[in-house]
Amino acid sequence: MCSSHDGQGDGRCFVNAGEVDIVKSQCLISFGSNLGDRFALISDAAKAVAGLPKVNQLQASRLFETPPIGGPTGQEPFLNAVAAFDTDASAREILDCLQAIETDLGRKRRQRWGARAIDLDVVLHGELVGGGPGLIVPHPRYTARQFVLQPACDVAAHYRDPRFGWTLQRLAEHIDQGTPSLALVGGDQAIREELCNRLVAQFGITTFAAKPLAEPMKVVGNAPARVSHGRRSPDLEANVDQAGVPEKLSGEMPASQGADVGSDQVGSVICVDPEQGPWVSAFMPPLPQLTSPETASVNVPRLVARMQSTTDQTRWPAPHQMWPAGWRWPEYRLEIDDLDWAVSELASALSSMRCPVEAVTADGGWW
Ligand code: ADP
Ligand code: MG
Repeated sequence: MCSSHDGQGDGRCFVNAGEVDIVKSQCLISFGSNLGDRFALISDAAKAVAGLPKVNQLQASRLFETPPIGGPTGQEPFLNAVAAFDTDASAREILDCLQAIETDLGRKRRQRWGARAIDLDVVLHGELVGGGPGLIVPHPRYTARQFVLQPACDVAAHYRDPRFGWTLQRLAEHIDQGTPSLALVGGDQAIREELCNRLVAQFGITTFAAKPLAEPMKVVGNAPARVSHGRRSPDLEANVDQAGVPEKLSGEMPASQGADVGSDQVGSVICVDPEQGPWVSAFMPPLPQLTSPETASVNVPRLVARMQSTTDQTRWPAPHQMWPAGWRWPEYRLEIDDLDWAVSELASALSSMRCPVEAVTADGGWW
């Protein structure tokens, strides 16, 4: 693995190769297959990735089996795995290689969430937040997917999501607690309420419509507080010190970042009956300190679903718009150009937080 700067949790190190420093990144990719000879396809894919010239020290997770989520009925269960490796290839180069391998192995892109011979995704690439046309890193939906997070704990438990600084181990445990739930952030209130209405009508999911407080609270970093005084709050300090958030995230959060969700989106406390099952709120309830046991509460959203239109004007180059810095709470990125699509996406995200993920091999030597 990487030497000198490795172990600092930023997923990168520098190798001096004569005149130029080559940046090496730790990359995490995911594998899925539920069509044809799933085992042969997934192991051929892993061999092909391990054989790429810029892929070093590939470590595969165990192989897991997961029921299909969100697609047409009658599909076979998926085989899932992830692999971690060091690389000096860019995320774009890796994705190009993965797509070439998918094509070689006979994947035909047909129906969204339909059965697929092989699906290869870039989950994380060092500290990259962004991408380009047809590439978004971190993968926009992995934070809700236990079939990615659980395998990831085999080989990349200590990797950190560069947006909010949590390790994958912590994220996997967090998603597994409380109740599957999402707080919608971004877009406008009418769209958030429309999404909630459709989730109720189509999936019977419990929702909370926007109820802004008379005097709206402001989210500063992770800690809800009255308008910031420009001083670092003790809550924030405790979060930083005990939660092991990387240095670059530990400074005081400017008020503009704290206000990122917009005061109209920060609503009242949510009171959930633990029996009530998955829920979605059209506003952001106050979040507990990261070190508090309250983070597991059913009244706290597991993920912040950051909504974004993906028109040519807003999509690129604007990764900072997709994922503004400053949050400490895990995020899920939701495209809202097509509301039908966004609704099924949200329902699938809630399902994939608790889908059964069974290991079917004893170790990562299956390929
Ligand atoms: P999914 O993986 O979400 O089930 P597909 O494999 O059909 O869906 O991918 C849809 C598109 O997602 C691809 O054309 C690809 O360009 C794009 N994409 C964006 N970001 C990523 C990423 N991080 N990894 C893989 N594909 C990505
Ligand atoms: Mg894919």
